[in-house]
Amino acid sequence: MATDIKEIIKSTREYNLHSHSQFCDGHDTMEAIANSAAEAGMLHFAFTPHSPVCIDSPCNMKREDMDAYFSEIDRLRDIHQPGMEILRSLEIDFFGADFGPHIDYFQRLDLDFRLGSVHFVPNQEGVLLDCDGSVDRFKRYLKEGYEGDLRYVVEKYFEQVLLMIERGGFDLLGHFDKIAGNASAVDPTIEEQGWYKALVADVIGKAKDSGVVVEINTKAYADRGRFYPDVRWWPSLIASGAPIAVDSDAHYASKVTASRAEAFRQLDAVGFN
Ligand SMILES: [Zn+2]
Ligand SMILES: [Zn+2]
Repeated sequence: MATDIKEIIKSTREYNLHSHSQFCDGHDTMEAIANSAAEAGMLHFAFTPHSPVCIDSPCNMKREDMDAYFSEIDRLRDIHQPGMEILRSLEIDFFGADFGPHIDYFQRLDLDFRLGSVHFVPNQEGVLLDCDGSVDRFKRYLKEGYEGDLRYVVEKYFEQVLLMIERGGFDLLGHFDKIAGNASAVDPTIEEQGWYKALVADVIGKAKDSGVVVEINTKAYADRGRFYPDVRWWPSLIASGAPIAVDSDAHYASKVTASRAEAFRQLDAVGFN
C-alpha cells in the first residue's frame, strides 16, 4: 500500500523523506539513523538509498541487497512504530528513457513512495558522469568529459530533470537544481542568466503540472550556505502551488534534522504555510 506523502507534509513538519545509510553511501546504519530520528521527534521518516543503477557506481546500492534492505525496514518498524512511521523508499537515478523511476523494475518494487533525482549527466558522447560530487571532481569532468562546456552540462542536467518529470513514476522530486552547486563554483553568475532562469521556470511549471512533491534539500546548507533548490526560486515555487517537502538528505545519524528548521524559517519568511 503506497503512502501519500502529500498527506504527511500537510499534517506535520516532523518528517524527513530523504536519507542514506549503509546500503549506499551513507555513513551510519539505518538503526542509528532511525534512533536519531526518533529522538528528534520525527513522526515520519523515510529511507532512500541511492537506487541500483545499470552502470558501475560505488555510491549506489546493489540490486542483490534489496531483500536485506527491506528486512531491515521491517525490523526497524517493529522497534519504532507506531510512534514514528518508517517509510521504505529509494532515491532513483534517471538516465533517460531506458532507466529511471518509470521503468518496470522500480514500479514493481513494493515501495511506500519513490524519490526521483538526477545526479548523472550524459556528456556529448552519451557517457554518464556523476556531477554530484566535489567541486574538484566536477571541474575535472567538465574539462575532460564535457569539452569544457559548462552551459552544455547545465542544460543537459535540466533536460534530464524535465524528461524524468515527463516520464513520471515518482512522487518526490529531489534537489531539482543540484547542478547549480558545482556549476556556480565555475561561473558564479550562472543562475542570473536568462536561459538558466527559463530552465528553472520550466521545471517548476512541469513539476506543478505533474503533481509531484518538490523537495527543498537542506544537506549542503551548513557547509555551502545554500539549499537545493536555491532560495531565489522559492517565491515562484510557492506561487506555483506545487507541494513542498523539506528534507535533510542525511548521510549521518547526527544530521537527520540538519538545517530543516532553518529552511522552514526562511520558507515562512517568503510566505510558505
Ligand atoms: Zn541526491
Ligand atoms: Zn540523497
